[in-house]
Amino acid sequence: MGLKYKRILLKLSGEALAGSLGHGIDFDTVMEICKPIKEVVVLGAQVAIVVGGGNFWRGRSSGSMDRTRADHMGMLATVINALGVADGLEQAGLDVRVQTAIAMQEVAEPYIRNRAVRHLEKGRVVVFGCGTGNPFFSTDTGAALRGAEIEADVILKATMVDGVYDSDPKKNPEAKKYDTLSYMDVLSRNLGVMDMTAASFCKDRGIPFLVFSMEDPQNIVRAAKGEKVGTLVQ
Ligand code: UDP
Repeated sequence: MGLKYKRILLKLSGEALAGSLGHGIDFDTVMEICKPIKEVVVLGAQVAIVVGGGNFWRGRSSGSMDRTRADHMGMLATVINALGVADGLEQAGLDVRVQTAIAMQEVAEPYIRNRAVRHLEKGRVVVFGCGTGNPFFSTDTGAALRGAEIEADVILKATMVDGVYDSDPKKNPEAKKYDTLSYMDVLSRNLGVMDMTAASFCKDRGIPFLVFSMEDPQNIVRAAKGEKVGTLVQ
């Protein structure tokens, strides 16, 4: 079966990179994630990745710290992850470029939209660090924004849950998983699949958003092929 989506914006949460360590980067886990990414690139997909930073730091959990500074720290955390993922992708045999929304040219390219698209067209995976580059935002919103800019066909959000439920599946064994949802549902019922800024942005831009579990990394391939996995918000 071929691909459903040709240009994919993949959002990897920091947590997904921590594996069983629970924090920081477990490089074996990163390598496991990179294999299916290579598979979809070999199938012909153009893949850009926005990485989170929650495995190191979250601005909103920084207690009494100044929020802007705490968010700067969070964005730097995403760069650590971006470099880790880039290394994994290279070891898997892919060409990779890292671009950061906050310039640090000794480490990575600055974010330049046209250049990012050019990399994708040449078959390179582009890893975006620093989210939107602005405090008070999240990497979900960064994924939505970059997805719109590069005209991605879909945003694939790889997390630790296998989709959106009507109640917490860990607490309620009867919890029902949704296969599809509208952005209106996500916004009006505050379902917590993505932050509200990202949801309203994707709704405005009409970009579909698929949430699925990374516990089986092969889900990335299933998602790219349009097979039934996770919950599709559209
Ligand atoms: N962050 C930010 N602006 C952005 C994206 C991220 O300030 O556009 C900061 C923010 O502090 C956030 C942290 O980076 O808590 C890590 O990102 P996020 O929490 O989205 O990571 P994830 O939960 O996906 O691992």
